[in-house]
Amino acid sequence: MTLQPNDLLHGWRVKYSKPLPEIRATLWRMEYEKNGADLIWLDRADDNQTFAIAFKTIPQDDTGVFHILEHSVLCGSEKYPVKEPFVNLLKSSMATFLNAFTFPDKTMYPVCSRNAQDFLNLIDVYMDAVLHPLSITDPHAFRQEGWHFELDDAEGELRRNGVVYNEMKGAYASPETVLYSELERLLFPDNCYGFESGGHPEHIPELTYEGYLAAHARFYHPSNARIILDGQMDLDAMLAKLDSFLQPYDRIEVHADIPLQAPVAPPECVREYEIGPDEDEQNKAFLSLGWGLMRFDEIEENLAFSVLTDVIAGSNESPLPKALLERDLAEDISFTLTDGTAQQYAAFVAKNADPAKKDEIFDLVRETLSDLAEHGLDHNRLHSLLNNLEFTTREKDFGSYPRGLIFAMNSLNTWLYGGDPAQVFFYDDIFRSLRAKIDSGWFEAFLRRTLLENPHHVRLVMLPSKTLGAARAAREAETCAAIKAGWTDAEIAEVLAEFQTLRARQAQEDTPEQLATLPRLSLADIPEQSAPIAQNVLSVDGVPVIHQSEETDGITYLDLFFDLSDLTDSELDCTSFFSGLLGELATEHFSVLELRSEIEGKLGRFVVSAPVFAPDGSLTEAHPKLCFTVALLPEHKADAVALLDEILNRTDFTNLNDMFNILRQTRMGLEQRIISGGNAFAAMRTAASVSARSAVNERLLGITSLRWLQKTEKTFQTDGLRRAKDFAALLRRIVSKKRLTLSITGEMDEQFLRNVLSVLGDAPVGAPRQFETIPVRREGFIIPAEIGFAARSVNLNTISKFTGSARVAGQILTFGYLWNDIRVVGGAYGTGLSVRPDGDLRITTYRDPSPARSLGSFEKAGQALRDFCAGEGELDGFIISTIASSEPIISPSQAAGRGASLYFSGRTQADRQRNRSEMLHTTREDLERFSRELDALLKDSGICVVGGKAAVEACGDKLDTVEALQ
Ligand SMILES: [Zn+2]
Repeated sequence: MTLQPNDLLHGWRVKYSKPLPEIRATLWRMEYEKNGADLIWLDRADDNQTFAIAFKTIPQDDTGVFHILEHSVLCGSEKYPVKEPFVNLLKSSMATFLNAFTFPDKTMYPVCSRNAQDFLNLIDVYMDAVLHPLSITDPHAFRQEGWHFELDDAEGELRRNGVVYNEMKGAYASPETVLYSELERLLFPDNCYGFESGGHPEHIPELTYEGYLAAHARFYHPSNARIILDGQMDLDAMLAKLDSFLQPYDRIEVHADIPLQAPVAPPECVREYEIGPDEDEQNKAFLSLGWGLMRFDEIEENLAFSVLTDVIAGSNESPLPKALLERDLAEDISFTLTDGTAQQYAAFVAKNADPAKKDEIFDLVRETLSDLAEHGLDHNRLHSLLNNLEFTTREKDFGSYPRGLIFAMNSLNTWLYGGDPAQVFFYDDIFRSLRAKIDSGWFEAFLRRTLLENPHHVRLVMLPSKTLGAARAAREAETCAAIKAGWTDAEIAEVLAEFQTLRARQAQEDTPEQLATLPRLSLADIPEQSAPIAQNVLSVDGVPVIHQSEETDGITYLDLFFDLSDLTDSELDCTSFFSGLLGELATEHFSVLELRSEIEGKLGRFVVSAPVFAPDGSLTEAHPKLCFTVALLPEHKADAVALLDEILNRTDFTNLNDMFNILRQTRMGLEQRIISGGNAFAAMRTAASVSARSAVNERLLGITSLRWLQKTEKTFQTDGLRRAKDFAALLRRIVSKKRLTLSITGEMDEQFLRNVLSVLGDAPVGAPRQFETIPVRREGFIIPAEIGFAARSVNLNTISKFTGSARVAGQILTFGYLWNDIRVVGGAYGTGLSVRPDGDLRITTYRDPSPARSLGSFEKAGQALRDFCAGEGELDGFIISTIASSEPIISPSQAAGRGASLYFSGRTQADRQRNRSEMLHTTREDLERFSRELDALLKDSGICVVGGKAAVEACGDKLDTVEALQ
């Protein structure tokens, strides 16, 4: 089909096309004539097809109405009257991406698939969901996903619960969420960016069903819609499909302009955030400055500012952090740009500071910035950082997010506000123009204009509070008690009945007739063969080399894996920390900043990590590695060799201050990650008792490593020097060709690999040691939060053997029993049971109001699976979605990681094929057998709960030990 401007196809008028050379695409813009729905298609060679519909949604309060809409419109629609079509799709489609997002000013519903029929099915379900959700005629989903009252009996205590309600409580456990939300409130008092689009936990209950309905009626209309298509597709079928949904709607006027905020400079604002009751309050203030910045369509300024933040504060040695850290005025500094909105802003944050010194700190920030404006920025750094930004822009590595999805989001950055959707895809000229400006003083003038002389400017001080959490809980209890006290007996009976109805509805299964409305693929659509992975293993100068011949757009990804299987526990503890110092400390020839410039200017990426591998099936072996990853363009191969030489062989471990700062920041960063994503850490902790691999993994990355960091920080002032010497000696031992495996992704270049080898030593290696698992533990860790995370882990190889059908079982439990019992009924934001090919099985909950209750649910998982097997529930869909999730869309850099994990686990193409066949031919008998194994394994396995004090204490004697995380 050839498109021409002015063509009319299924009600769509083609307006224009525009070539987008930087992403090798042509953009086609179309308008639906009857109601003005706006559409772009990025015609690109990508077999993964993307569809997204976005509505401009402008919050006018903190109730999170659009977030609740986002969740609840996916709970059944006119054409698909099942409880949760979204979950049914997760259970049964080939989708490579399926989710929905609430942003500060828009709500977006994207789907991606490589299967044409599946893609059309997904679009049908999503279009019906957003335009004809059952939630606008039946308040059930609003209550479940938003908020509702819970009452066990007429005398009982009144509570409030809901999925979004708990999700946002989890989000607000992070002091940074509180901080950014307050900054936005101060910076944007007159437009929608001052409100919390996700919903503030204390204001979510202010939303009424009527308010919810009004928001849907006003904003979820084709006249307010932007639709993005990306990739190779049957466009005619697509436009016809959309036509069938849009046809009934006439054009309406949607008043959704976002006025730019006129500059404001309110007085300094003071707020509190929660810390643990036993935590030290000393030096725990967050001091922040915010600046209102450019418009959405000032793309060059946007890129310039992002480089500016890096020059000013990208590393501890950058001017701003250096000034503050040197005087010990804060423990960590961040300086960030928030974009993707009509009006952007910047935030400076000094973390863990003494509030009494706030004026000194704020003055020092100003002086430092003035000094930079006057005496000039580091132009070398500007060049390097621009190079690096250009590399990542070209690389387009979005991890597991398909490119089409990211392009869809990017196009909205201008398009949503009436701008040109193509504008964000042109960047060659911008990089050229910015480079030319470096030496003219433009960046210094830009700094002056945006930061020093900017009249749109706020100051925020956040103080720690040990009582805030308890006070909030007490206030919530009082509010609920007062609400209940104001009710008549009849009203209480009504609420009780409403809650019982909610529970009854949640327990109700969809009928076969309802389920039959959903489009589905058949197992016959799924190829028997697993897609081969292009991997070769060869040897260069005696060193094993894994080669992945992926298409990488000319980029080479190189990983150096140094085996650590002979290291003692205490050496491993150090390695996990000092690996983070490499590339961040000065070297023989470079200061920290010079080294950063070398790395950023010449390599796209330099990452140090400490993964742990084991052969599939082995519970007793573990092979920890120290891994250096670099990504580079061909012209920088010699630079990469020189930099590896410099960092691996010439890092200077004598600056104890620099090391201490990084140590403290690493500890703080890990604590924050545990508070916001405790499920992963709780799972890692319990897994440490089931296999040696997981035990070492936990030691290197989990709560054990946090304990090491906390302990080391306390004694570093006295034993830092000794430690520094240990690090240096250990690194010399580790960087040996005798320990090395190389992995290269992209074009093979043996000479390059030889050059890399030529800079490495060959210190001898000890014999691999035995690693012990740790004893089974049942433990709780208290964090300052209102919610928690629960986890249990087992390994199937303990009593039998991993087979592909175990993954199907995991999919059934995750989207069936666990989803319903823990998310829908329990109100936890997330839950799941995952099984890996090495037999590792983890059950977790995420942002869970009641981990104690969830632990009880975990125990019934085996029975739930047997109930499924005994019932009529359809199995094929689960098989299809399990297979789709076992072969996700991955970026070239992820392909490199996958290659290494296949190689070190000894998993062959034949193993992968066998796993796929086992998945594809899973029977109810397989599942039944798995359920008994699960029961047996769970009986003696460990438990870990990370959560707020009340949530952990409610677990009672399910836990043997409870300690504070911080
Ligand atoms: Zn959500």
